[in-house]
Amino acid sequence: MGLLSEGSPLSWEETKKHGDHVRKHGIQQFINQYKKLKSRSRDILYWGDEVEYMLVKFDDEKKTAKLSLNAGEVLDNLQQCEKLCPQDHPSTWRPEYAGYMVEGTPGKPYGGLLAHFNVVESNMRLRRKEIQQALGPNEVPLSLTSYPRLGVGNFSDPETKTTPETGASKSIFFPDEVIFQGHPRFRTLSRNIRQRKGGKVEIQIPIFKDKKTPSPFIEDFSALGDDGEAARTAKPDHIYMDCMGFGMGCSCLQVTFQACNIDESRLLYDQLAPLCPIMLALSAASPVYRGYLSDIDARWTVISQSVDDRTDEERGKKELKNDRFQIHKSRYDSIDSYLSPIYKCYNDIELVLDQDLCDELQKGGIDETMARHIAHLFIRDPISLFSEKLNQNDEEDTDHFENIQSTNWQTMRFKPPPPNSSIGWRVEFRPMEVQLSSFENAAYVTFIVLLTRAVLSYGLNFVIPISKVDENMRTAHKRDAVNKDMFYFRKDVFTDCSPADVAKCMASGKCERIKCSNIQDEYTQMTMNEIFNGSDDFPGLIPLVKQYLNSVDIDIDTSCTIQNYLKLISKRASGAEPTIAKCIRNFVTNHPDYKQDSVVSEEINYDLLKLIHEKTDNCETLSTDTKFSSKTKDDIPTALSKAEKYLAQKNPQKNMTNGHKS
Ligand code: ADP
Ligand code: MG
Ligand code: MG
Repeated sequence: MGLLSEGSPLSWEETKKHGDHVRKHGIQQFINQYKKLKSRSRDILYWGDEVEYMLVKFDDEKKTAKLSLNAGEVLDNLQQCEKLCPQDHPSTWRPEYAGYMVEGTPGKPYGGLLAHFNVVESNMRLRRKEIQQALGPNEVPLSLTSYPRLGVGNFSDPETKTTPETGASKSIFFPDEVIFQGHPRFRTLSRNIRQRKGGKVEIQIPIFKDKKTPSPFIEDFSALGDDGEAARTAKPDHIYMDCMGFGMGCSCLQVTFQACNIDESRLLYDQLAPLCPIMLALSAASPVYRGYLSDIDARWTVISQSVDDRTDEERGKKELKNDRFQIHKSRYDSIDSYLSPIYKCYNDIELVLDQDLCDELQKGGIDETMARHIAHLFIRDPISLFSEKLNQNDEEDTDHFENIQSTNWQTMRFKPPPPNSSIGWRVEFRPMEVQLSSFENAAYVTFIVLLTRAVLSYGLNFVIPISKVDENMRTAHKRDAVNKDMFYFRKDVFTDCSPADVAKCMASGKCERIKCSNIQDEYTQMTMNEIFNGSDDFPGLIPLVKQYLNSVDIDIDTSCTIQNYLKLISKRASGAEPTIAKCIRNFVTNHPDYKQDSVVSEEINYDLLKLIHEKTDNCETLSTDTKFSSKTKDDIPTALSKAEKYLAQKNPQKNMTNGHKS
C-alpha cells in the first residue's frame, strides 16, 4: 500500500506546514523524470496482480471467527524467501493497512506469453498455501473483501480495546491496535486524515431494510463510549462507521500493466477507466458492514468515505477562507479526467486543479492534458511525511511526487517509471473486489489482461463522458446491480481512433479530427449481460476477447484454462452465476440464526467464514459448476457478425505483445 518511507513521521501540524514544499518539489520531480523518460519506448508487456488476504482465527468450540492480528510475524516469515533469493522467489509479500491483512503479488511480473495464464491461478493458490504454513493452528487466510463483523465487540485475536479519547482513530468501534503496527505509515495516515478533516471521518452506508429491521434504524452508541458525536452524526437508516480502518481494512484485487511507451499507457488508462464501475459491479463481494447487512454490494464508497479528509470549506459547507479549493470528491475516488488529448471532449466534469502547478508543468514541457491530471492530484495535501525525507534531490528522487500520487487512491493510477530502473510506464486497474477463490481471482485478472490486448490489437474504444462513468460508479454499488441495473456503455466500440491515430495525434500535438458533437449519441444504457455477452446491437466484451484469442497462437491447455475463466465472467454477467455479494447475502438471510433484522450475528459470521474456508480449500469456488472441461469454443449466444467483419480486416500479432508496432 503506497510508499513505505523509513523514519520518523511528522505531526499533522508539521506535515501541513510542509505541504507547499512537497507539492513544489513533487512537481519538479515529475517534470525531471518526464523529461528523461518520455521517449522511453519499446518496453514489452509486463503485468501482475495484487491480492489482499485477511487472517482469520476460528474457535470451533465458541463458534467464533476472529481477525488474527499477526500479520507482522506472518510477513517476517513470508518475506524470508524474497530476502534469501531476491532474484527468484515465487511470491512477494507486503503489509497492508490492518494487522490482519497481508498483500501478495507474484514474485516476478508476467510477460507477453499467453502461456502465462496457465500459472496465474497456481501462483495464487501457492500464495494461499504459503500464508497457511506461516499461520498458527485454526488460523486461515481468506480473500474476503469485507469482514462482516469488523468493529463489533471482540472481533480481533488477541482482543483489543478502543480508545475513543486518544490515539490515531479515536474510533468507538475499531481499536488503534488493529492497525498494522509494523510501520508507522498506517497510524500516521489515520491520525492525519482525522486531524486534517477537523474531526473523525463519517462513513454512512444504507442499511438493508428487512422485515424486522427497526424503522427508522437508529443505534444507541452510549455503551461504546460515544461522547455524543456518533449519535449526532449517524444518519437514520444507515450503518455508521467512524474511521479509516473500516475502508482500508477491506481487501481488493488489482492489476498493473506495463505499456510499450507513455502514449500507450495513457491510452490504456483511458480505455480501462470506463470498465472500472463495470468490473466493480461484476466483482461485488461485500454486502455486510459492522455486523449489518447493507443495501450495497461493493466496498468502494466505504473506503472512499473512510479516508475523505476534506475540510468543511473544501466540501462547500463553509465559505472558503483557509483552504484553497472546493473539492468534489474524496482522495479515494473515481478518476476525473481522461489522459489522452484525443479524448478531451469526454472530460465533462469540473477538474479542480492547482493552476500555478499546472502552469509550472506546462512550462516544464508537459502537455496540457497531462499537466491538468497531475495538477489535479496535487490539490491534495501530503498526509504522511517523514522528517528524514524532507530535503531531496529533485533530479534523482521522486518521493515527494510519490507522496501525493500514492495518497490519491483512484480507480485508475497512471504510474511513471521509477527513477533509474528498468521498469516502464504503467497503469494500475484498481476497482475490483477480491474474490473468495484463486480460480475466481485468476479469472477476473485474466479477463482484464486479455481485454487490454484486444483493445490494443483492434483499437477498441470504450470511452464515454466521464460524468457517465461516475454515474455507473454509483450504480455499481447497488444491491444486485449486476442483474437489476443498466450501465452506460459505448454503442460502437470499433472506433476511428486506433492506437496509431492516438499516437499521431499525440505526436502532432493537435487533435483536429476529434469533434465534440453528438457525444450523447455514442453511448446508451445496457445490461451487464449485454455488455459482456453481447446483443443484436453490441458484440459483447467476451466475444471480442474470444475473437482476439482465435487470432493468436495458443496451446490447448492455455486455451482451456482461459475458456474456463471467460465462462465464469460470462455467467456472472448473465446472472447464471451469482456474485459473491449475492452468495453472502443469501447465506445470511437463510441462516437459522438470522432474525430478519439485518443483524449478522457472531454465529452467522462463524458459519459463513467456515464455509468460505472449506469451499476455497476444497473446490476453490463457492459454486463449483463453473469449471467445465470441454475444449469446445463458444457456447455463448453472440452477435458477432459485425465484430467479425471488422476484426477480419485487422491483423493482430501472434504473440500477446503490445498493440503498437513500435
Ligand atoms: P503498487 O503500486 O500497488 O504498490 P507494485 O508496484 O507493488 O504496486 O506492483 C503491483 C503489481 O505490478 C505486482 O503484481 C507486480 O508483479 C507488478 N509489476 C512489477 N513490475 C512490473 C512491470 N515492470 N510492469 C508491470 N507490472 C509490474
Ligand atoms: Mg494493497
Ligand atoms: Mg496496488
